Amino acid sequence: MPNNAILIVIDGLTPSTFESAVGDRSAPTLTELAEVGSYRRAVTTFPSLTPVCLTSIATGAHPDVHHIPHLVWWNRGEERIVEYGSSFGAIRAAGTRRSIRDTIVGMNRDHLSKDAETIYEAGDRAGLTVAAVNITCYRWPYRYVPTVPGIAPATSGPRRFFFYNLYESDPIGGPLSIRNRAAGSVDEYAAAAGRWLVTRDGFDLLVYYLSDLDFASHLHGPDGVREQLVRTDGSVRELVDAAGGMDAFLERYAVLLCSDHGQTHVTEAVRLEEHVHAPAIVTASNRAGMIYTDEPRVAAASLDGVDAVDAAFFFEDGAVVAIKQGDEDPAILDAYPLGRERVEAALRNPNAGDVLVTATPGWELADLGGMHHAGGGSHGSLAAGDSEVPMLGIGIDPPARTIDVKDALLAGVLSAVR
Ligand SMILES: [Zn+2]
Repeated sequence: MPNNAILIVIDGLTPSTFESAVGDRSAPTLTELAEVGSYRRAVTTFPSLTPVCLTSIATGAHPDVHHIPHLVWWNRGEERIVEYGSSFGAIRAAGTRRSIRDTIVGMNRDHLSKDAETIYEAGDRAGLTVAAVNITCYRWPYRYVPTVPGIAPATSGPRRFFFYNLYESDPIGGPLSIRNRAAGSVDEYAAAAGRWLVTRDGFDLLVYYLSDLDFASHLHGPDGVREQLVRTDGSVRELVDAAGGMDAFLERYAVLLCSDHGQTHVTEAVRLEEHVHAPAIVTASNRAGMIYTDEPRVAAASLDGVDAVDAAFFFEDGAVVAIKQGDEDPAILDAYPLGRERVEAALRNPNAGDVLVTATPGWELADLGGMHHAGGGSHGSLAAGDSEVPMLGIGIDPPARTIDVKDALLAGVLSAVR
């Protein structure tokens, strides 16, 4: 394989959308890549929410190792809610300034476990130049000050680092992205950074994260993203064109392409906290909830008969207890892809709630601001639709789990270098 690699992560792209867009060639660049690569469906971590999933991809580990538990969680040490941006309403409810800082800097500096090793740390230690574009898990100690003063403190990222043009390792003159998401300018910024990097061949390993598709899927549902996927395909095309076409691109780079999680249709929403009858703090968003309580069994039992709750899980005497509508049976875990592995790892995260809730198909759990996506798409649960992702490899065997992406990329690049 070539001795450089690119990881492309398309937020919220479902396997079926990928497969049909490649099948009818409506996403031309992805189609060309699929024709020369090998493809499989893979499984992400739980909760299947972007901050958790991207951190799992970047650290090669489940939340028991990296410690990012959810979009919204209770920080036991600081006795406060951490909210990474479930919605504008939720950000306002948690405190706007604090949420922005938690999302941009706190997640990497304070919440991400020191025992987890990011792909940037591992790559840099192995002598590789690692680059990251827009991905929310970016930790590695090259120091960056924000391009716009006052929004966020200095942070530290990989050697080449482009983050929503708020932090830039190199001035690329890309379009502004932080203020105008609806216009799709987030991925335009990513593409400008990606083009800059490929034009200069300025990395050994690039993590290229495209977020706009998830936004469209929440709005229109997972089957309503075809138009956005064509634009996303264009953001991948920019890399190919910057290399001088597909042949030159694939001569230079091995490629892994995946998403961080799937999405499913939701039609109904509920506030989980209204149904928990125990002294507890409830954090919920999208299709996963957590309950912080000294009485996990009581809290879980209070969810019996709640339509929105597919199943609840907690530890008792060191073993996972799984409850679905009053039935207590460890076999419940096997109804979900890698159910046992993922639930146990999620519960072993010291920042997670004592009870974890996976939502019923079609249901969403409203966030702190009461916001939800009923009528559109959502994700976060253990169910296959939220958990399965497309995984395409060109020059790298596509792994079966997103937590294996890090090692697959590093092993590929390092064996080619040697
Ligand atoms: Zn999402």
